[in-house]
Amino acid sequence: MATEEVIFLGAGASAADGAPIQNALFKDYFKSRAYNDETNTVLSTFFMDFFGIDTNDDLTGINFPTVEEVLGILELALNRNESFRKYPSTPQAPKVQNTRESVIILMARILRDKLQAGRPIHDSLVSRLIHESRISKTAFVSLNYDILIDNALSDVHDKFDLDYGIPFANFSRKNDWHRPRPNRAVKLFKLHGSLNWLYCPTCISLMITPKDKSKVSQYADTPIPCVSCQTNMIPIIIPPTFFKVMSNFFLQQIWREAENTLIAARRIIFCGYSFPDADVHIKYLLKRIELNTGTCPDIYIFNSHHGKGDEVKEQEKQRYERFFSDKTKIYYLDKSFEDFCNNGIP
Ligand SMILES: [Zn+2]
Repeated sequence: MATEEVIFLGAGASAADGAPIQNALFKDYFKSRAYNDETNTVLSTFFMDFFGIDTNDDLTGINFPTVEEVLGILELALNRNESFRKYPSTPQAPKVQNTRESVIILMARILRDKLQAGRPIHDSLVSRLIHESRISKTAFVSLNYDILIDNALSDVHDKFDLDYGIPFANFSRKNDWHRPRPNRAVKLFKLHGSLNWLYCPTCISLMITPKDKSKVSQYADTPIPCVSCQTNMIPIIIPPTFFKVMSNFFLQQIWREAENTLIAARRIIFCGYSFPDADVHIKYLLKRIELNTGTCPDIYIFNSHHGKGDEVKEQEKQRYERFFSDKTKIYYLDKSFEDFCNNGIP
């Protein structure tokens, strides 16, 4: 069935179900003191060397760098084939690569630990869409690496097949994930990657982690080697503003599929997404939709949350309004993601 509505999930949507906001992720991880292995040692040394943070200290007043800053610096060095002092990035001593992998493992660990309690708000969204018979006309775009919406959709009694817009190597294996069946497929485009996709950089193949909940983030504890070449697989995670975003074959395909779906949509509902200036790739995608269809879809924004100031709301509203050409189609509602999940558009 053709997509009528696209639900766009930003970091605020995951935060509503308890995900640490990006700026708190590193601090939450080190404060938990839950890990004491080689990956943890690599991370502790890295935060000392690069940001002067002793992770063994009391971290209460410490200001950690953002995910964007940390991954951005490492990605840029890799992209430019450059090293840092004590951090080579050669095939013989791939320390920048290893550090980047450790940072991704950190993210997988803290999100797994923080989100164990479930995701009642995402669940209520899926329940409402099913109840209103809208789910087959709805597609999702997520900027989050966690798998809250993935699990909320795939846990409904095998009713739906998640269609990420890309093929996974598991599709050709027995007793594993199968290709999404057209009459049950729900589109979910994760534009910045996902913690349940494992990429083999040698084979350029992508696996989806097992359905079994206890094994989804197994790689966060022990590396999972590629079955074909034994290279350790690592999730695809792209820091939002990083320019290399389009260079991964699978991500290119996802962005293209997302564009094709957005073109057909009559409504886009932004949830917990502040529309920051830095997200140039997202803005490029949206502007392409607007120009190439010759019409602006209705835009609804559910960004409010407890304690959010009026000035912040007003600035956000202005960011949305100045960007889209038809201002009459923008509905910046003073409502939260949770309001949208429970009650829909008023
Ligand atoms: Zn491989």
